[in-house]
Parts: sequence; C-alpha cells; structure tokens
Amino acid sequence: MERERLRELDRVVLGEIWTSDEAWRNLVYLCDDLGHRFAGSEQEWRAAEFLAERLRAYGLENVRLEEFPMVTWERGPCQLWVIEPLERELPSLAMPYCPSAHLEAEVVDVGEGELPDFDRLASEIPGKIVLTDAETNRPGERKSHRTDKYNWAVQRGAVAVLFVNQNPGQLHITGSLTGRNPNGTSAVDREAPIPGLGLSYETGMFLRRLAKRGTLRLRIATENRTCEARSANVIGELPGRTHPEEIVLVGGHYDGHDIAQGASDDGAGTVVGLEVGRALSRLRGQLARTVRIICFGAEELGLLGAYYHAARAAAHDERIRFVLNLDGAGRGSGGQEQLVLSGLPELVPYFQAISRELPYDFAIRDELNAHSDHFPFALRGIPNATLSSRDATSGMVGRGWGHTEADTLDKVTLRSIQLAAALAARLVIRLSEDEAFPGRQRTPEEVRQQLAEAGLLERVRASEGNVI
Ligand SMILES: [Zn+2]
Repeated sequence: MERERLRELDRVVLGEIWTSDEAWRNLVYLCDDLGHRFAGSEQEWRAAEFLAERLRAYGLENVRLEEFPMVTWERGPCQLWVIEPLERELPSLAMPYCPSAHLEAEVVDVGEGELPDFDRLASEIPGKIVLTDAETNRPGERKSHRTDKYNWAVQRGAVAVLFVNQNPGQLHITGSLTGRNPNGTSAVDREAPIPGLGLSYETGMFLRRLAKRGTLRLRIATENRTCEARSANVIGELPGRTHPEEIVLVGGHYDGHDIAQGASDDGAGTVVGLEVGRALSRLRGQLARTVRIICFGAEELGLLGAYYHAARAAAHDERIRFVLNLDGAGRGSGGQEQLVLSGLPELVPYFQAISRELPYDFAIRDELNAHSDHFPFALRGIPNATLSSRDATSGMVGRGWGHTEADTLDKVTLRSIQLAAALAARLVIRLSEDEAFPGRQRTPEEVRQQLAEAGLLERVRASEGNVI
C-alpha cells in the first residue's frame, strides 16, 4: 500500500525530470555565462542570486541567501625558475591562500608524499622546497589529502610545497591550503604560512629528472592577497505535511576554483539539487517532512558554507533527519552513481533495500571522510551520505579533471544529471516518508570514537575543535 503510494510519487518526479532540459540550461548558465564562481568573488554572488531566482521560479518556499563572513583570496602573478643544475622558467600556479613570497631554496622530493615519506626525509626538509604528488588516491584506495601533505611539510620546516598533478595533459592542480591558524577567522589566520604551488604532471616529471642529477635549486616569486569577504548558502524549502519540523537536507556546492568552470565539481551537483527541488515541488503538500534544498557556498575554501549551516541549524535546534550531499553528482556520462555514507555502516543494508525496491542499481558503501560538505554535519552526529557519479574518463588518478583548468562543461551530460536527479529525488522521497527510518543521531562521544578510528581526530582538533 505504502509502496504503491511511493511509486505514484516516483512517477510524477521521474516524468518531470525525464521530460526537461532545465537542469542542463542552468548548468550552461553557471559555467559558460558566469564562469568560475570562486568563493567570495562577484561571480559567486551572481550565481547565488541566479540559484535563488530559480528556486523561487520552481515554487519553493522560504527561499533565501544565508550570508556568512569568510576569508577569500585573490590570485596575483606567480613565477617559478630553475636556478641549478640549469636555468629555466617553468609554468606554475599559486594555490588558494598562498601568501606572497620571494624565495630561493633547494628541493627535496618526497615522491607520493605519504606520512612515511615525510618521516623518512624529515632531516632533509628544513629550509627546503618540498616536491610531492598532489593526490594519489586511485579509485578504491584511500590515501592522504593535499592538506595533510601541506601540513606535514610545514611542521617539518619546509619553506614551500610544490604539488604535482598526477594526470598528464599540462594541467595545473589547485586546491586551498591550510591557514597558519586554522582555528582563527581573520585574513591573517587564514593565509597559509608558506607558499603552495600547483604544477602540471609534465613540469613535475621534468623537475624530478633534474633532481636525480644532484642539487636542484629553485626560485619562487608570487604576489597574492588574502582578504575578508562574504559568501552565502542558497536555500529553498518544501514544507512537510505531517512533520514539518523534521528536515531532509539535500544539495551540492556551487562555488568552484578560479582556474576552471567547476562544471563537474560541483556545478553538476548544484543543478542536480535544483532539479530535485523542481521535481519535488510537483508533490507540494504530499511529503511528510520538510525538504530543504541547499546550494553550499565556499566549499573549496574549507567547507565554509556547510560549517556555517550546520552551526546555525544546531543553534536553532533544527532537527535534520538526513543530509544528502551532491558533491560530484551528475558529472560524466551517468549510470554509475555511488552513495557513500560517512560513518553509518548500519544504513548500508537500508539503502541496498531501497536500490532493490526502486529498482535501480547504484553502489553503496560506508567510509568516514572529511573532504566535502557532509562532514560538518557528520561531526554533529547527523546521518549523512554523499551521492556522486563516476567521472567521464576512467583510469585517471584522484580527482581526474577536478581542480584543474579542464573541469569544463564538456565533462558533464544531461543524461548524467537526469540519472543523478532521478535517484536523489527518489531517495529524498523515501527519507521524508519512512516512519521507520533506522538512521539515528550519534552522540558527541560516538562521533569522537569514530573520528579516532578513522584517523581523523587530529585533523578535526586542528580545524574545528569547538564542534566536538
Ligand atoms: Zn566539490
């Protein structure tokens, strides 16, 4: 009976999603018309206003910009020269929060840059420039994050870090650097203590060949500005019929890096979220719980919008039943979606049962991780998962096209957006309607235990010690 009712709701939203290219047109506007949407920039603001206007047009209620203060970064010139064993200027890119610097030093190559590499070379690092692979996680492997490597280099006395993209194609890798005081909120706190530059795979390999000859000496000159600004989350709601105080939160981040269109990270996830809102608005007054569509601001600079929203929801005693993060949803060619729960192994069979019932195949697993907008909610013990789609190109390492100049609209398809939106909308319907939902809020002690087991406690203490 209930099952048949859910099917009826499905038919409405699937019909809406599969007969429209609205989501694609939204993505074209975000990527081709507006461009990069770097957090704190004018483009990010214009995107926020556009997203709010769309949510209003779809009939969502309480549409608003949730503004918050943050620290942004403005890119200036960046130059890198080889001084020894030969003289050459090489292309490079300062990474967000990189300070201005003029320095010259020898290079120490830490290879993949995992913790044992840093420990093995600890005595050589002080006063040197560290050269490391950026992100080495091949699909299914769990390795260190760029910011882990940056922190290890800083702690061991390095004067700069060079990150090598692991995918060929003359593409520079980017990603924000950790501030000198991660617990602070001022521009001085957020600016990184030493320069971090992104290199292409080819430039990195050239430097590694030179390093094998003996002493490799480089000069770095870069001018950048870290300054205070504002960003905003964009929110719209479909109020619940019987339990309006309980919220199912769903959405991706609309900001991106300044060197790319941010089409797959995460313009696609943003328009998937809008499409869920548009389709579910056809069920207005029929869903039991409130569905809140959110487009997070400033994810790439440290999950700033998500931290703000999680803190504000807690301060207002809001009851968030589930967070469905859409970072990476809708990219590629579609049909290979995966749902990653963050610290909720008991919900794997629950979602497997939904997959069989729909019926629609998608991968489901549990892995506590700290690197997207679900995490501030996970820290507060709120059940959550991230829905993402497999990138267009197989065989690429780590983020693939993400965080490079090549994260452009041509890496996304309408079909993938439709598949992700159809799945997300049907999951949200069930998360709203299920009176016997088995997910439960974790206590702070349980969260602390989980973080310790996942090796993430140190990381959280350094950045968000006030949360748990
Ligand atoms: Zn992202």
